[in-house]
Formats: sequence, structure tokens, C-alpha cells
Amino acid sequence: MAQDTKLREGEVTVDMPPARDAGLVFIGRIRTPWKSRLETPRQGRHDGPVCRLEIFEPWVPAIKGVDFYENLEVIYWLHHSRRDLVLQSPKNNRKTRGTFSLRSPVRPNPIGTSIVKFVAVEGNTILVRGLDCLDETPLLDVKPDRCEFSPLAQPKGGDFETE
Ligand code: SAM
Repeated sequence: MAQDTKLREGEVTVDMPPARDAGLVFIGRIRTPWKSRLETPRQGRHDGPVCRLEIFEPWVPAIKGVDFYENLEVIYWLHHSRRDLVLQSPKNNRKTRGTFSLRSPVRPNPIGTSIVKFVAVEGNTILVRGLDCLDETPLLDVKPDRCEFSPLAQPKGGDFETE
């Protein structure tokens, strides 16, 4: 964790509570062209470079069917982020804001998400465009974009609740 990052004016840290195991497993790693945070895009673009989601065993069979979708949601662990800031002053405007009002990588659980364009599957690897993370970022999950996905299971009562 990058606790040593210099604080900017207005920024506030808290003492991190001890980590409780949420039971996460890294299902793979993401290969991108970016080796430093400075050069990594703030948000991915669908015409950005092809990046590789390398899936580890025993999760490789779980790739089956992803090629059905044009867009996938990729969830990843921004492993070099500090996690203890509640107020942040973004570099570009220094207006101090709460962590939950930002998509900054600095957050109590540094989870990043991107909707990416599916490109191809090559063996244990899914090729996509639209990422914004450092090379070797740990991969948490891959799902179909919710706009394209029709649930395969029967509807439930809650699906129709409006209030
Ligand atoms: N698209 C994701 C989201 O909105 O949840 C992440 C957005 S975040 C603003 C992207 C930035 O996180 C990059 O520009 C880079 O500065 C930083 N970053 C990327 N990979 C990281 C990693 N593995 N650890 C820490 N910071 C990372």
C-alpha cells in the first residue's frame, strides 16, 4: 500500500481499521502498456490499446461464453493505492472532496471497475480495450455489461418492485 504518498492541502487521512478478510481471490492479472500511474489514463477508452486479462487456473473454464458480449465489466484491485484518505484534493483542481464523491483509486477498498470492449479470447486470456490500470494489476472479476445481459434464471418477486 502506498501510504507514503504526499498529502495535498485539505486532504485528511484516518487510521485504517484492521483488514477483515472479505474472502477475495485474485482470478488473474491484467497486462497493460502502462508501467507508471502518471502515464495510465484516468479512465479507459474503447479505442484505447488492447489489454490482456490473463486468467489463472482453476478459473480458465469460466471464460466460456464471454465472446457472446460486445462489452464486459472488469473489476480489479488497484493494489498500489493508499487506502486511508477520507478527504482528497485532486491534482487538477485541488477542490477538496469526499472519497465517495470521486472515482479516485485511493479508497478504503481500492476496487476499480471499467466497461470494456471485448476483442477476442486467446487460450486463457481475454483481450479487451478500455482499461486504465497499471500493468500486472490483480483481476477480481469479469462479467457481462449489465445493459447487454438478460438474466438466465427465472425472474424473482423483487425484480418488479418499484417502491
Ligand atoms: N476505471 C476505474 C474506476 O473508475 O473505478 C479506475 C479509475 S482510476 C481514476 C484510474 C487511475 O488509477 C489511473 O489513472 C492510475 O493513476 C491509477 N491506477 C491504475 N492502476 C493502479 C494500481 N494497480 N494501483 C494503484 N493505482 C492505480
